[in-house]
Amino acid sequence: MPPMLEVRDLHAGYGRIEVLRGLSFRVPAGSVVALLGSNGVGKTTTLRAISGALPVTSGSIHFEGRRIDGRRPDEIARDGLVLVPEGRGVFPGLTVEENLRLVHGAMGRDRSWADFADEVFGVFPRLGERRAQLAGSMSGGEQQMLAVCRAMAASPKLVLFDELSMGLAPLIVENLFEHVRAMRARGTTVVLVEQFLTHALALADVCYVLSRGVVSWAGEPAELRAGTAAVDYLTA
Ligand code: ATP
Repeated sequence: MPPMLEVRDLHAGYGRIEVLRGLSFRVPAGSVVALLGSNGVGKTTTLRAISGALPVTSGSIHFEGRRIDGRRPDEIARDGLVLVPEGRGVFPGLTVEENLRLVHGAMGRDRSWADFADEVFGVFPRLGERRAQLAGSMSGGEQQMLAVCRAMAASPKLVLFDELSMGLAPLIVENLFEHVRAMRARGTTVVLVEQFLTHALALADVCYVLSRGVVSWAGEPAELRAGTAAVDYLTA
């Protein structure tokens, strides 16, 4: 069986700046994979290339065995690969409920709205209380919760989370990661880009450390905790 996601010899960048220089990694179905590395190594660029937001220069990306590089972001999302970008990306001028209904209506496949709303407002009661509030007027943490719920509304097969914990209080981060765990338990495959190593390592099955646009180390979290080599890469 092919992996759920396979990135092969990927090159991508911005104009003449090449950021990814032959990046390769695999994401098995049902796993949580963490992409780690110091600032500016290309973690966000990798997620943007996979989701179709950034064109690739060369190399290939396969999702469920089908080639997706060169396809439009909305087509890729409809096939079940969803990006939760850094900085939340919710629609500020729509209410909490409208944000969720929009995605659920477009992509929510096999679940009714009532069923989905019950679950999501059960897990995040604060969003339930604020379902009529404009998303743009909520706190950073609340918007991040909404971004996670919006990804769930799309019934994704694979979710890419970019810096889920960025700028949030520890309790909210705990809550969000609890939710990622629940998504995995339901069979969703997850790719995490994280600054908070503790959370990423607690959740991930496999870690890839990026440096200079390639994977410089791959292994299990336990090896990463035990070894110093990979940690050197992280802090380089
Ligand atoms: P961080 O952990 O700091 O978010 P990252 O690993 O996610 O870093 P990227 O955001 O992928 O890194 O950026 C990789 C490189 O590409 C950086 O040097 C960055 O300055 C550059 N870069 C990112 N976006 C653009 C852009 N729109 N135009 C030009 N250069 C860019």
